Amino acid sequence: MKKQYEHVVQFSAGIGSFASAVRVVRRHGPDRTTLLMADTQIEDFDSWRFAQDASRLLDVPLVRVADGRDPFQVFHDKKFLGNSRIAGCTKALKIDPCQRWLEKNADHERTTLYIGIDASARDRNRIPPIATNWQPWRTAFPLCEEGEPELTKNELLDEARSLGIEPPRLYGMGYTHNNCGGMCVRAGKSQWLRTLRLFHERYAIAETQEEEFRRANGDYAILKEQRNRVVYPLTLRELRLREEARQAASV
Ligand code: SF4
Repeated sequence: MKKQYEHVVQFSAGIGSFASAVRVVRRHGPDRTTLLMADTQIEDFDSWRFAQDASRLLDVPLVRVADGRDPFQVFHDKKFLGNSRIAGCTKALKIDPCQRWLEKNADHERTTLYIGIDASARDRNRIPPIATNWQPWRTAFPLCEEGEPELTKNELLDEARSLGIEPPRLYGMGYTHNNCGGMCVRAGKSQWLRTLRLFHERYAIAETQEEEFRRANGDYAILKEQRNRVVYPLTLRELRLREEARQAASV
């Protein structure tokens, strides 16, 4: 197969990856550009709508790759439960399948992989480890380049709307990231409480998966909390029970 892609946007369905794709196409045109999206099996359905809209708007192909597992299956296989600090699911479900596709469809020398890190100082700190994870592929971060205005997430969302694209619905529901259908293990308590409130079934699935992991592997949890300077695992079950008790007390 001809290795035709030179500009590959790692499209997460987050607003940063969309804004990066817009800049790549403006600079290099749609030929030899593609959106590459890894399916973690638990993305919100509206992420795929957004990805297809972006593909149509920019006139570039959308390529879906998949490991086939979801994050919890990865945790069971690795006997390691992802959390805010370490989440093996990103490598297994996103980086590895994308790299396999790149090996088949692109050349190291000619291809750049674009990643939608935003220009905030906090996100910029993520650039060196991300670039290392993607090696040997050359990475670029269009929103952080010199001369690029430092836009907030809301400004990026407005930019998408001004181009005629409705952003993924999770942003409008209060989520900071459009990741794994509101079940990203890197997020904190507030995301999980939001998911408990808005997507009760998704929360129930995650809670069941965490309980199964604990039965098989011991006292681990996605979340943690600190009491008297000691850090304890905080299970999704415990978080839900506390929230239910809090709501019952406030009636
Ligand atoms: S978005 Fe979160 S849960 Fe999904 S693969 Fe990445 S780290 Fe894992």
